[in-house]
Amino acid sequence: MCEWCYKHGAGKKWYLNSKNYLEETAEAVGAHEYIYELWKHFEKVYLQKIFGISTRGPGYKFSIPVVGRAIKWYINSWFTKEKPLKGRNPRRAEGHPGQVVPLEDAQHILELADPILKVNCACRHMTRGIEDPCCLAFGALAEMVPKLPRYIPEHGAERLHIDEAKDFVEKMNRGGRVNTVWFGPVPYIAALCSCEYPECAATRLRIDYGLNALYKGEYVAKVDFSKCTGCGTCASRCQFGALTFTDSMNRPFIDAWKCYGCGLCATTCPEGAIEMVDRTAVPAVKDEW
Ligand code: SF4
Ligand code: SF4
Ligand code: SF4
Repeated sequence: MCEWCYKHGAGKKWYLNSKNYLEETAEAVGAHEYIYELWKHFEKVYLQKIFGISTRGPGYKFSIPVVGRAIKWYINSWFTKEKPLKGRNPRRAEGHPGQVVPLEDAQHILELADPILKVNCACRHMTRGIEDPCCLAFGALAEMVPKLPRYIPEHGAERLHIDEAKDFVEKMNRGGRVNTVWFGPVPYIAALCSCEYPECAATRLRIDYGLNALYKGEYVAKVDFSKCTGCGTCASRCQFGALTFTDSMNRPFIDAWKCYGCGLCATTCPEGAIEMVDRTAVPAVKDEW
């Protein structure tokens, strides 16, 4: 289990603890005000304005010896910030990390969230200037949407029944989107997203700059070669560079260090040859989040 599970999971994974979805939790952490400030200023938050880091270009300051490491440490401390509540800065997305989840866990999350509203993706709006209604907003975030019309899809913000929401994330998963769950802020859970590299600002910050805006998932993928037929269907599913399909062996290989546990390779395999195993059961990566 990751650090958030120990702190906020009540013995489970943090995103399966129903307490983290309650209105009382939202109020205890000031989620309404926090979310409004963060989403209102989304284009200007830490991503583009702070320390020369841009989702559009390289963060050259990270390459400065010693200083670069100190800056990285400092920025990473934002994501894990929990207290003081009033001092948590939404414009730096303090206390707003997310984690990759496989489809099955994403669907469990939807059983705990209410209401579920389909809204425009903030990252794609910022990075590509496009409106893509692929984010599912819960509770305090869903309440904020009417105040910020740019997050309302063209045909209106759509409230989804649990079954509709489950179908929706499955469709996103089939299309190659990575399911991610988000604190808004810790420990309140505000959203389930459908991300893609490089549009997703958090995925880009993590992959390209090693910033912990997005945590690796609770699982890693493992191939059962006795079931694999070498069909190659999984070959293009990994956005994290963890799965390589070798032509000479006619088999996929998964680097557990690089695997984020999104499960996209597993859900596409027609033979059920890819299993998602608990990260903590794999000694080499059990502390890799
Ligand atoms: S985290 Fe993913 S889905 Fe959510 S706003 Fe960013 S790119 Fe969009
Ligand atoms: S190897 Fe599979 S589970 Fe791991 S990150 Fe790649 S697609 Fe996701
Ligand atoms: S999709 Fe499944 S059967 Fe096909 S190559 Fe990948 S692991 Fe093997």
